[in-house]
Amino acid sequence: MSHAEPLVRFTGVQKTYDGEQLVVRDLNLDIQRGEFLSLLGPSGSGKTTTLMMLAGFESPTAGDILLDGRQITGTPPHKRNFGMVFQNYALFPHLTVGQNVAYPLTVRKVPKDEQARRVAKALDMVRLGGMADRLPTRLSGGQQQRVALARALVFEPQLVLMDEPLGALDKQLREHMQIELKELHRQLGVTFVYVTHDQGEALTMSDRVAVFNEGVIQHLASPEALYETPANRFVAGFVGDSTVLKGTLEGQNTLRLPDGQCLQGVNV
Ligand code: ADP
Repeated sequence: MSHAEPLVRFTGVQKTYDGEQLVVRDLNLDIQRGEFLSLLGPSGSGKTTTLMMLAGFESPTAGDILLDGRQITGTPPHKRNFGMVFQNYALFPHLTVGQNVAYPLTVRKVPKDEQARRVAKALDMVRLGGMADRLPTRLSGGQQQRVALARALVFEPQLVLMDEPLGALDKQLREHMQIELKELHRQLGVTFVYVTHDQGEALTMSDRVAVFNEGVIQHLASPEALYETPANRFVAGFVGDSTVLKGTLEGQNTLRLPDGQCLQGVNV
């Protein structure tokens, strides 16, 4: 296996739910090892469907998806080695934080002492060390989302899939978590695929952004390139709407937003 081989390759992928309208039209996309890729676009543009096909919760109507060079059509989700974070956290309310995070290890029958070690490490990673015995319902939204993130990371997957994971958080916490996620990605060096309709979020965190509209990737590029040389009017309009781009750059990687807030570690 050559090192330059992408982790994921979609070729000619199409998806229709009802046998009529294509919600993903002709998807050709390489996801590189270790990158932070955002799938950005308006509601209904096919982002979640694309993520669900990669996860194995939905099957393509046509085309191929390769993971590590191997065709994965028909491979069930639990054999695809990814961690996943959803918008609504999807935590088990009757299990403690520690038991929630341990869940993927329990279903994989990892020995108990190994589980304890990995859970502690994952909770430290998201700065929730010492919270293992709490119930998730006693935590704030931001803390619950960190638990979901720890659960996605606990078996050290090569790929982490996220579907609007910060959507339920208020604006300030969301911006804070964006910086944390970017830092976590840098530390872990694994591949993040992140679905969002929020331009600022995608541009702040990602190495590359795939801009979707009506089931088609309109432009796949770095945040800078999307901004400076958008592929078409749709991309120019959609990306140009970003709050981030309306801010002012202050020194390297620091951006002052119109409301006076400062974001650090931004890419644009
Ligand atoms: P996005 O994530 O960009 O908002 P989706 O992939 O969720 O877009 O949806 C794309 C289109 O497919 C939408 O028109 C949506 O209504 C439709 N769709 C999504 N999931 C289903 C489903 N399970 N059954 C039927 N139609 C669906």
